[in-house]
Amino acid sequence: MKLVLLGPPGAGKGTQAKYIVEKLGIPHISTGDIFRKNIKEQTPLGLKAKEYIDKGQLVPDEVTVGIVEDRIKQEDCNAGFLLDGFPRTVAQADALDEVLSSMGSALDHVINIKVPTERLVERLTGRRVCPKCGASFHVIFNPPKQDGICDYCSGSLVQRADDSAETVESRLNVYEKQTQPLIEYYQEKGLLRDIDGEQDIDKVFEDICTVIGSDNK
Ligand SMILES: [Zn+2]
Repeated sequence: MKLVLLGPPGAGKGTQAKYIVEKLGIPHISTGDIFRKNIKEQTPLGLKAKEYIDKGQLVPDEVTVGIVEDRIKQEDCNAGFLLDGFPRTVAQADALDEVLSSMGSALDHVINIKVPTERLVERLTGRRVCPKCGASFHVIFNPPKQDGICDYCSGSLVQRADDSAETVESRLNVYEKQTQPLIEYYQEKGLLRDIDGEQDIDKVFEDICTVIGSDNK
């Protein structure tokens, strides 16, 4: 089963990725994780990627595609894989297609977890943290007993700059702009499987299992 997982920040993609790879026994390939690991270990790849990142530039497609190609040619990917964070562009999707077809293979499904923007904003801006003890709350999903006060140390809760409505909305806009052409690309190929990400985590997973034709047992 060769899968690509798409979904905006706050859609619960990480949780679903974990469920999918556990169920299918396939590796979870996150290009973000691969880059972070290589940068941390200062491998040739990591040093190359870091050059671009330090300059505030995107890592070029040939580097990213090369990494993914190496990874999916490893033995543990014989039964399939779940790609997360790749492809991000139509050019990368084309390159992935070429790599797979040179291996006599192709993608089976592109799972697209959809959540309305206003719900994502609600999820992503609701986090409150305690600067004194580091505890984390959510105004809707995990509220403190007393509004604005830490349950553990009575510190005053704050919102991180990253979680402000402005930052969150701009992140979501960037995601949408970047991903829309990719969604259309996979739609045309008949590979796109839209999943309603507004439901319970378990129901979302059930729907994913249904569309990929694997019973949820
Ligand atoms: Zn606290």
